[in-house]
Amino acid sequence: MSKILLVYTGGTIGMVKNPETGALETFNFDELLSNIPELKLLEHDISTVSFDDPVDSSDMDITDYVKLAELIEINFEDYDGFVVLHGSDTMSYSASMISFMFENLKKPIIFTGSQLPIGDLRTDAKENLITSIQLAGLKEQGETVIKEVGLYFEYKLYRANRTTKVNAEHFEAFASSNFPPIAESGVNLKISYDKLIKPNLRKKMIVHKLLNDNILILKLFPGINYKTLRYIFNIPHLEGIVLETFGSGNAKTDPWFMELLKSVIDRGVKVVNVTQCVGGSVIMGKYATSAGLKNLGVISGGDITTEAAVGKMMYLLSKKLGPKVFKTIFETSLRGEMN
Ligand code: ASP
Repeated sequence: MSKILLVYTGGTIGMVKNPETGALETFNFDELLSNIPELKLLEHDISTVSFDDPVDSSDMDITDYVKLAELIEINFEDYDGFVVLHGSDTMSYSASMISFMFENLKKPIIFTGSQLPIGDLRTDAKENLITSIQLAGLKEQGETVIKEVGLYFEYKLYRANRTTKVNAEHFEAFASSNFPPIAESGVNLKISYDKLIKPNLRKKMIVHKLLNDNILILKLFPGINYKTLRYIFNIPHLEGIVLETFGSGNAKTDPWFMELLKSVIDRGVKVVNVTQCVGGSVIMGKYATSAGLKNLGVISGGDITTEAAVGKMMYLLSKKLGPKVFKTIFETSLRGEMN
């Protein structure tokens, strides 16, 4: 028997339809449990805690990430695993962020949610929740099996910082194009042991709660012009840019673009190159259209997702590292987020 803490942050999984407006609104977390009598059949000891004001995941920001990390941290020693119920819209961002905030994690923190509210007849919430609890409670020879931040949705457990929400309608809402699922649920739970993070059990866990959100995601598109980019690159408090480029990390080669990029990097802003493609990797220097970026000192995101790049940026910027160290650390996999 494992002790599991369910943390409700908000999202469809705990919402009901307002009969007057028809809009989905959050409701009391206790009602969530009364909607799933099946939970009593699980062999685990389940406790629950909820955000005081549950939020739609579109409203999540760094204060919520810290709030969530603290809820887990203060309960850490008392539980074997954690299941975070979260809106699916920004779940990949939050779960990636939490993976960077918990260094040397030795217990599972599994994010899940649903596309339909738990009370809906055709809901996907029950399977997602029940299997997430089972995975979080999984032990072999008395030892917790999963020791990382996962995201469970529609029969698959992914490494959270490898995921992206790819569908607003299908139950299979997430993808992890650059890393296979770490577990799959069928008749049996199939764990890919060779894919799991194996932390050094002697190292102490550190929870990083200082985050820096002076960043932006900039998605390039053919036709993006000087007037716009000049203003964006000159935002005074800007400290980091996740630059979504084409294909394997390619961008415009126009001199004005390269000059703007050079001036923003010279100002100390960290620029990370990630691909707009759902799969594959940035390889700077493969084409002439990315060789210039490499020479300017743009950081390679490799095969990182935009969601994980945002989390890694918010985490690393708070460490006040020099440009070279920042680049070296960013280009290194810290929590299994890149190959
Ligand atoms: N809008 C909701 C949210 O992300 C959708 C969901 O829960 O799936 O909070």
